[in-house]
Amino acid sequence: MQVMIPALRMTLDDTDDSFRASVARQLNLGPEDMGRLRVLRRAVDARKKGDVFFSVHVLADLSPRAARRVLGDRKLHAQAWQEPAEAPLVHGDRPPKGQIVVVGMGPGGLFAGWLLAKEGYRPLIVDRGKAMEDRVLDVESYWRTGRADPESNPLFGEGGAGTFSDGKLTARSKDPRCATVLDTFIAAGAPEEIGVLAKPHVGTDRLQQVVKNLREEIVALGGQVRFSTKLEAIHTKDGQLSAVTLVHEGVPQRVDCAALVLAIGQGARDTYRYLFDSGFAMAPKPFAVGVRAEHPQSLIDESQYGPFARHPKLGAADYKLTAQAGGRGVYSFCMCPGGFVVASGAGPREMVVNGMSNFDRAGQNANAALVVQVFPEDFGKGALDGMAFQQRLEQAAWDLGGGEGLAPACRLGDFLAGQRTLRFGSVSPTFRPGVTGADLNLCLPPFVRDGLREAFVTFGRQIRAFDMPDAVLTAVESRTSAPVRILRDERMQSLTHRGVYPVGEGAGYAGGIVSSAVDGLRAAEAIISQFRPEEP
Ligand SMILES: Cc1cc2nc3c(=O)[nH]c(=O)nc-3n(C[C@H](O)[C@H](O)[C@H](O)COP(=O)(O)OP(=O)(O)OC[C@H]3O[C@@H](n4cnc5c(N)ncnc54)[C@H](O)[C@@H]3O)c2cc1C
Repeated sequence: MQVMIPALRMTLDDTDDSFRASVARQLNLGPEDMGRLRVLRRAVDARKKGDVFFSVHVLADLSPRAARRVLGDRKLHAQAWQEPAEAPLVHGDRPPKGQIVVVGMGPGGLFAGWLLAKEGYRPLIVDRGKAMEDRVLDVESYWRTGRADPESNPLFGEGGAGTFSDGKLTARSKDPRCATVLDTFIAAGAPEEIGVLAKPHVGTDRLQQVVKNLREEIVALGGQVRFSTKLEAIHTKDGQLSAVTLVHEGVPQRVDCAALVLAIGQGARDTYRYLFDSGFAMAPKPFAVGVRAEHPQSLIDESQYGPFARHPKLGAADYKLTAQAGGRGVYSFCMCPGGFVVASGAGPREMVVNGMSNFDRAGQNANAALVVQVFPEDFGKGALDGMAFQQRLEQAAWDLGGGEGLAPACRLGDFLAGQRTLRFGSVSPTFRPGVTGADLNLCLPPFVRDGLREAFVTFGRQIRAFDMPDAVLTAVESRTSAPVRILRDERMQSLTHRGVYPVGEGAGYAGGIVSSAVDGLRAAEAIISQFRPEEP
């Protein structure tokens, strides 16, 4: 009988055999009682100083007698196991009048398109940016020169913002579709360990190939994928979607359309403006802004893992920090162990920083966004006021950096003293093409500046030496989540434009790779439930 036992202890030095013996001991069973063991989930537990181990959920084949004993021991919290059954999708019976179109090939659009293709709907997936090979060259050039191609950059192109991300695949949701996303990534070439790790990470280097493999699968399943193709207009009849205008190399094409998945991400400000001007129901939403902080990775490893720091099974340590300052939450976000700080804007005269890492997380520095909550009361009640607020911040950061694509950055000691950084100390900024030493107080709104200053006192207590004067801060981290929501109903359709499904981060209903992908899957399911697939 299969029994799932949560939170068993695995030491860092356990081998398969020693762990098996240890499980038998922890369950008080003889070796003859236990058949195959499978690790379902593995998390690092470093809560107790000086004791770092893995907490492991194990699926064990047990003899009936052993299963009864284990299930009867309340302290073990064991459960009889049933493989989660996949509910078959119910296809609708209406023939679609026109194409099913997916706009945006970030995680939201990619997974919507993948499921639609898998179920026989032959979707047309378009993205304004370029295919991976060309996009990688454009992004490299941006990071070398500081000048972004407005249509091919870290936000636009195959894989969306997810491609040049840190590739952390964590999701807070318990939605079973999260497992579908991870399994699909694994089938497309991601490392198998992401299926069991509590904090899965694939890294930007591995993600690029995975995304390309998924695109090839979509095409093999009958989907069409077009790059450098921008959605410029949505046409409706009596409030119902009827067609879209797509523009490729300046040439517009009108495509009759039965359903439109709008997975545009949060970087497409011109498309947000178009939607607003076309009467889409939209509302401002809270988000958070601040700076990216860099510390030596060794400092974080030692603080989190003590004597176990740099153990080969642990890799680079992460952290999560929270504080309250001036009635607002201040917290770390998108922490990238062994990563680097990158420019991730799309437009001219805007400086936006973010973080990423490769699969090996071998960089010298740890980086994370440190951000302060921002509410509509801070910027206005208009749907696009949050976007305008972000834009002002990004322009201020651009100007403070000197206007040539260099990011403004400072030592933490100088930030707290309210002075410009003239020279960096023991921590070197990783931002490319480079930074300008600055006083970041000059480009942050007072409530963000004060919130960060106050929070550093708390953060320094949570991680030893986190408030070290040589830590580097780079500005501005302004895109933690979308500043606007494209309102939709419980069937995931726009409140004002039936047949249009706003999904993912840009719609304001998801944030992060996995949650945007899950949102895309849900939209695809909603479309599948209405229409019948195309004849083979
Ligand atoms: C540097 C960086 C690091 C990150 N690290 C992580 C991480 O480690 N883990 C994590 O979970 N998340 C991370 N994120 C966030 C994550 O990438 C996003 O949450 C996710 O990509 C959102 O998915 P999406 O599909 O909703 O939108 P996006 O990925 O933004 O994709 C939107 C796509 O729509 C296209 N588009 C927009 N407008 C149009 C139009 N008019 N016509 C045609 N196409 C259009 C764009 O070109 C783009 O490709 C990171 C983001 C960045 C920038």
